[in-house]
Amino acid sequence: MFEDSNSVRSFCVSARTMFLGIDVGATWTRIAVADRDGSIVKKVRIPTPREGNELSLVEAIIEVLGKEFRSYMDRIEAVGIGSIGPLDLSTGSIVNPPNLPIKRIELGKPLLEHLRRPVYVANDCVAAVWGEYLYGLGKGLENVVYVTLSTGIGGGIIVDGNLLLGKKGNAHEIGHIVVDSLRRLRCGCGGYGHWEAYCGGANIPRFATYLIERWSLGTEEKRSKVYQQYLEGSIRTETIFDEAKRGDPLARKIVEEINRVNVAGFESVINLYDPELIVVGGSIALNNPELVLEPIKGIEYGRGALNEIPRIEPTMFGDDVVLVGAIAIASNPPKNLVKKLRYLEQL
Ligand SMILES: [Zn+2]
Repeated sequence: MFEDSNSVRSFCVSARTMFLGIDVGATWTRIAVADRDGSIVKKVRIPTPREGNELSLVEAIIEVLGKEFRSYMDRIEAVGIGSIGPLDLSTGSIVNPPNLPIKRIELGKPLLEHLRRPVYVANDCVAAVWGEYLYGLGKGLENVVYVTLSTGIGGGIIVDGNLLLGKKGNAHEIGHIVVDSLRRLRCGCGGYGHWEAYCGGANIPRFATYLIERWSLGTEEKRSKVYQQYLEGSIRTETIFDEAKRGDPLARKIVEEINRVNVAGFESVINLYDPELIVVGGSIALNNPELVLEPIKGIEYGRGALNEIPRIEPTMFGDDVVLVGAIAIASNPPKNLVKKLRYLEQL
């Protein structure tokens, strides 16, 4: 038999065995509660506030926690947040996000003050790679890269079991690798020739416009829905991929150019980090596996890639990849990340 004090202690320890994961996106914020093994028990999605002040997002999160997660709150050991950037890790805040109209959004500090337990904030792709490493396809490996092909292009990198962060926490910003030395297109960050400026979902229409303006097109290509949208000044990324799937020759030609740039980006990632596995997420990759993923998988050793070609696989978590990553950050916070989160000291 255990003594009373021991039983009480073991009860307390076992009582707090759940984790909150929060995925802060430009459009949606997803919140989930999960077990230590990463299995999600409940999840809720709310629109990310586009108005208000630096505390509006945390206030919205606290409201949902009170309404939807009340019965779990006593059992929450820690909270992980995977967020759009750029981040100021020392205060756990989002600073000047390009896709949101609010200049500064406080996350880590006010949530920690409210919940009185650890709140770990990380970049969304950093969270995603940590989730793949702990719970996903990267389990048991030491060198894993996560790449998202979505509105933007982002990455998370683990080398020799170490999560790469860098002096300000941006060592993984692969979307801004220079893939075009002629610097033809400008990136949202202000730089030129960056991978994201060509293949990020938000920028693909501009890249397509650039190409169409320089190509001499035949009559069949001019019948393309993409060409119609070009004339109206409203090319949509989705239309390019949908039409390419249907065999539209102009759309296919544009996708070929996008693939050429994606391949250059992946070759750089393989050459820089020598991963055993690259997990790919993001709507552009996941919605178009044959059009987008297959050409990337076709990268050959010795023809662009100096390092042995790793396995390249879509994430098994789909849309939940950042959410699962946030849960992984909460259940097993990477030590070098914790060191950067100065606001944790007040706990
Ligand atoms: Zn850039």
